[in-house]
Parts: sequence; structure tokens; C-alpha cells
Amino acid sequence: KKRNPHEEEFHQAVEEVATSVLPWYMDHEAYRKAQILERVTEPDRIVTFRVCWETDEGDVRANRAWRVQFNHSLGPYKGGLRFHPSVTQSILKFLGFEQIFKNSLTGLPMGGAKGGSNFNPKGKSEREVMRFCQSMMTELHRHIGEDVDVPAGDIGVGGREISYLFGQYMRLENRWSGVLTGKGLSFGGSAVRTEATGYGCVYFCEHMLAQHGEEIAGKKVVISGSGNVALYAAEKAIEKGTKVVTLSDSSGFVHVTDGLTEQQLHFVKELKENRRGRISELADEFGSVKFYPKARPWGVDCDVALPCATQNEMDASDAIELARSGCLAVCEGANMPLTADAAKVLADHKVLHAPGKASNAGGVAVSGLEQSQNAMRISWSREEVDERLRSIIANIHARCVEYGHQQGRVNYVDGANIAGFKKVADAMLAYGVV
Ligand code: NDP
Repeated sequence: KKRNPHEEEFHQAVEEVATSVLPWYMDHEAYRKAQILERVTEPDRIVTFRVCWETDEGDVRANRAWRVQFNHSLGPYKGGLRFHPSVTQSILKFLGFEQIFKNSLTGLPMGGAKGGSNFNPKGKSEREVMRFCQSMMTELHRHIGEDVDVPAGDIGVGGREISYLFGQYMRLENRWSGVLTGKGLSFGGSAVRTEATGYGCVYFCEHMLAQHGEEIAGKKVVISGSGNVALYAAEKAIEKGTKVVTLSDSSGFVHVTDGLTEQQLHFVKELKENRRGRISELADEFGSVKFYPKARPWGVDCDVALPCATQNEMDASDAIELARSGCLAVCEGANMPLTADAAKVLADHKVLHAPGKASNAGGVAVSGLEQSQNAMRISWSREEVDERLRSIIANIHARCVEYGHQQGRVNYVDGANIAGFKKVADAMLAYGVV
């Protein structure tokens, strides 16, 4: 904390991993002697830069951007870019740190990184977003490459932004390479990449419930967010026979007592992906849906909760409400959506809890598959990618069980942290003092 002052989110992420890993780490002298834990918390490098761009009125704006290249022991750096006014170095360091272990869990050769800017895409015109992306890539292109660092999307960075960034990369480098993932299907993108994080989260949840003698079909599911992760988690959850009773955005949440229909989901997809509207419009359109402004959905009774919006969106009082309503499992679609206190409440109440590094790894896994397809200059069918995604998620679940099994139940937080950490630690040990 002294070395990284005022980086609360980063401290929170490190503390969670260290708490899981320490007992096991202290038993392994080789890791201790090589100071693997201390070394893995220090990023390889952080690039910080200014991004200047012009508004439609011709005014100049300046934002700050970062790329945190955290650890490339297992492969080229890999991790998303986030555009949101709340972005700080601390948030990108926590996300980059988590990404190391998540990528390790996928079993694919990927190191951990994260980047982004405090640029707010909300309310900006298409042209302004394009100019910002081009200006950002004008600096970023020096630091990335298909064998060096391969960024992807995250909050505020979807297909539109990736396309502008990729176009500018090609213009600057004069060559086509799979330097970004999440690209459009007609220019090197992978089938199922858009759906992968949300689908993967539901696949993981299904394994977690099955491991504890429960079926996903028929369950009542509360989801937060209505972005990329939330919408495809909702789609897969509905397909699995659950009732999805909430979605949200930063203005509040909608409650759909009888469960979101396919028609309503289609409406929200169109609303969010094309019109960039607010979630309250679902309630304006469908009389049976109720909108709760400035509120979070955790007070709604459910069997399963999938937090899919942002970090620290569930605190201890929310977790208490969930536990009291009889919630069986919380499976994270977002990164670190629970405060440390909320995670403790779930553990105390024996609510199953899958950390994002395990349950939202489907997105980066399919990004890894996009890199492989680009390198081979081929593209796999939707069925083939989905099959690989399912198998990667099944493997991650199995590794959590292997390392987190405690008296008939699985501690998924410990299991994911130890399994993810071990592989990185072994590589770092093998490389010697570097
Ligand atoms: P999107 O930008 O597509 O959607 C984000 C959603 O979360 C929106 O509904 C947004 O509402 C809401 N949200 C964002 N910030 C806040 C906030 N401070 N308070 C309340 N609601 C908020 O992002 P993604 O769906 O891609 O990402 C969601 C989460 O999943 C993030 O934690 C991300 O790191 C994680 N993740 C994403 C992956 C991916 O493949 N996209 C992969 C793995 C993890 P509004 O529109 O009103 O801002």
C-alpha cells in the first residue's frame, strides 16, 4: 500500500489473491525465495499518454490514456481497453492484475494487461468517437503487436470502437495483423466473440450448480448491467430455461416479474447496441415491466445472481439481502463486482461465489481463439468456437474444484486464485531472475 498509494481498487484485487494464495505459497519455499508474489504485483510497465482530439465544433479536448502491461510470462500481453470517465491507473492496474490469472486459467498462451482512457463515449457523435480512437491508436500502436500485446474491448469499447482502432492501426503500420480482438466477422473477428463472456458466465454457473446437486433450469436469475456481458448472459440464461427477472444500467434497474421474454431481450439489444438508450425505455415500452431509478437489483428475490456491470457494484448490505432471499449462487460476469465485505458475507452464508477471473474468462478465451484463427488465416464455424468455449469453461471449473475443494463444497475464490497463480509462478521461477 505504501508503494502504490491511493490505488484502492488495486489493493483490493491484490489482497483477494494474496489471501487465497498465501497459505499455499508459504508451504513452497522456492516461490518464496524467488519473491514471486512480490514480483507478480509489480507491472512489467505502464505507458501513460495524452490523447488530443477535436469535437464536432472544432474545440480541442485532451484525455489521459494508459496501457498497463502487467505480466507476459505465459504469452503476449492480452486484455481489454476501457473508455469510461471513472478510469484511473488504479482501476487499470486491478483489471490488469486480475487478467494475469484469468488468462492463465484459460490454458491459452496469454499474458495479462489492461488499458483505456477517462474518455466518456456517452453523448459523443460517431465522428467524435472515431477521432478519439484514431488519436489514441496513434500513440498505442508503438506498444502493441500480434506477438507483443493484443488489446480487446471492455466497458465503453465495443465493435464500433475496435473497428476504428483497428483501421487506424493498419493505416499507421501498413499491414494486416491480428493486433486487436473483437473485430468484425468480415475482417478477422471470431464467431461467438460478442457472446462469449455472457455465455461463458452461464456455462460456468451451470457447472457450479451441478457440482452442488442443483440444475440451472427453472432458476430465477437477477442480472445487473445491460451491456455486452449482461445481454448475452441473459440470452443464454433464457435458453437454459431460467427466468431472468432484472437488467440495469447506471440510471437504475428494471424488474420483469414473469421473466424477460425473447421479444423484450431483442428490444433491449436494439436499444443498447444501436440507439444507445436508457434501460427505463423497456418499462416505457412494456407495461408489465417496472423501472426503479437509481437503485440496484440485489433486493429482488432470486436463486442466482449474475453481476455483469462494473467493479464494487455489490456491497455487504446487498449481499445480506441476497443471502436472505435464499440465493444459491453468485457468478461474476463483471470484474470484481463485489466489495471485499460482500464476498465475506456470501462466504459466511455459504452462498456459492464464482470470481470473475474464472466465470467471465469466456471472453478472453474466445479472444485467444481469434488470435489463433488470425495466425492460421482461417476461421472456425460458430459451432466449433462454441464447443471450444464450453470445453475451456469446463476445464476452468475443474481446476477450481481441484484447488478449492473444502469439506464437500468448493471455495471458487481460493480455487481460481491458486490454480491461476501456480501456472504463472512456475513460469516465472523457470525464467530465473528477470
Ligand atoms: P458495456 O460497456 O457493454 O456495459 C456496461 C454495463 O454496465 C452498462 O449497462 C453500464 O450502464 C453498466 N455500468 C457501467 N459502469 C457502471 C457504473 N459505474 N454503475 C452502474 N452501472 C454501470 O461493458 P461490458 O458488458 O463489456 O463489461 C461489463 C463488465 O464485464 C466489466 O466489469 C468488464 O470489465 C467485464 N468483462 C467484460 C468482458 C467483455 O468481453 N466485454 C470480458 C470479461 C469481463 P451505462 O450504459 O448506463 O453506463
